Amino acid sequence: MHIVIIGGSFAGVSAALSCKTYYPQAKITLIEKGTGLAYIANSLNEYLKGKLADLKNGYAYSIKDLQSKGINCLLNHEVTKIDSTNQILYVKASGDSMTLTYDYLILAMGGKGFTEEPVAALIDPHSYESSLKSFEKLQKAKMVLIVGGGPIGIEACEAYQRAGKDVTLLEAYPSLAVKYLDKPISQAVERLLVSHGVNVYKRELVNKIVPVNDTIAYKVITNNSTYLSDCVQFATNFTPNINLVENQIALLADRSVAVDEYLATSLKHTFAVGDLIQIPVGLHRKSLYWPSIQHSITSGSIAAANLIVPTKALPSSETCLYSKLYGYNLLSLGMTASSAEEEGIVTFTSTYVSQKGGQIFIISKADDGQILGIQWLSLAPLQAELALLMTGLQAKFSEDDFLVQAPPFYSGKSLIQFDLYKALYHHKSLRQKEAHLC
Ligand SMILES: Cc1cc2nc3c(=O)[nH]c(=O)nc-3n(C[C@H](O)[C@H](O)[C@H](O)COP(=O)(O)OP(=O)(O)OC[C@H]3O[C@@H](n4cnc5c(N)ncnc54)[C@H](O)[C@@H]3O)c2cc1C
Repeated sequence: MHIVIIGGSFAGVSAALSCKTYYPQAKITLIEKGTGLAYIANSLNEYLKGKLADLKNGYAYSIKDLQSKGINCLLNHEVTKIDSTNQILYVKASGDSMTLTYDYLILAMGGKGFTEEPVAALIDPHSYESSLKSFEKLQKAKMVLIVGGGPIGIEACEAYQRAGKDVTLLEAYPSLAVKYLDKPISQAVERLLVSHGVNVYKRELVNKIVPVNDTIAYKVITNNSTYLSDCVQFATNFTPNINLVENQIALLADRSVAVDEYLATSLKHTFAVGDLIQIPVGLHRKSLYWPSIQHSITSGSIAAANLIVPTKALPSSETCLYSKLYGYNLLSLGMTASSAEEEGIVTFTSTYVSQKGGQIFIISKADDGQILGIQWLSLAPLQAELALLMTGLQAKFSEDDFLVQAPPFYSGKSLIQFDLYKALYHHKSLRQKEAHLC
């Protein structure tokens, strides 16, 4: 049996490793058009902040990791055509071309950025090669403009500002990171950026980028204004990279690849994973296009399990953001208040400001206090709390269900945990007061 995987990033590598576990006798070939496997896309930020010694260290896997397990890796090879009737792939490698037959095919070609703007101006931290080029551009640049105030744009602001650049952030919505943050935390994040000298402009939709004379400067023209910058990074949403399969596979309205719960596509013996597909999100298992490394890894291994017999359905996951900004840890888990309201849920929200300057924003159902989402900006790391909160959200915990887990005050637990429990008490008493008044 020959299993071929197209795309050697998080989803593709996860699929290849899992295939080896499920089908030890199978021949497994991973085809990647780039020079390495699974590049962590924010490595450029870490490099600029001095936390990564070499941009090359951004690869999550080495070819040796896979070859030592008996997986055949074809780097610098691009699949140019799929003949799904005869199960043949056409592959291009440094001028040569070849064909490969397969019994099962896993598509893991990922996502791509939105913009078709002039390449010379762009910062693109997606791959090692583009990060290297972007670093060279950044070295010459004084001004950097970032389009898109989501998590990627926000993190980039800090990295470029710390590298001494004059940084401008343009966001189309009236607040930053709307998919993850409601107003109180979004505004706290914005204040943090502005206090470090980042210029933040909202309700700005970029229409055009125009070169200025022969210099490296560009005019960025929006619906409201014109900005001057040496470099531009598009940190906007991705779209699924479907070029290879566009005219032969069933797609959804957002042009992600349509898959069933076992990740099978409309093509025979063909599965799709990672940033090519939507995932079921949250308690309602609503299907959304939500690019993330974790989802890519999970879907890669789930598809592998289902190649011969459908056995494992893709589980629903909570939307989660964990980011760092100027010494703060930023966590967003579950629904925002606005997304809950869009689904017709009547919510109650509260903001708790801790003595140390952190903030916790809680969203629950107004009637029974079931926690729907938490957004937390904190100077202390929140990984331990993330695990508890994730479990609690999936188990539909109310404030009380969380509060019975509160550690005794003498137990020596970190102060940060007390912040969470104080915030939950605060939330519960406000919600009950309001319910009582109504
Ligand atoms: C700047 C930035 C920061 C990010 N930060 C985070 C973060 O902090 N946390 C997080 O969870 N996610 C983050 N993401 C998103 C995350 O990188 C993606 O969700 C993840 O990489 C998707 O993995 P994937 O395997 O589905 O696809 P991709 O990583 O997009 O990889 C697809 C691979 O397929 C290859 N390929 C495509 N077509 C072909 C072909 N025809 N033949 C051969 N090979 C092909 C490509 O070369 C590529 O290597 C970030 C993304 C960006 C751009």
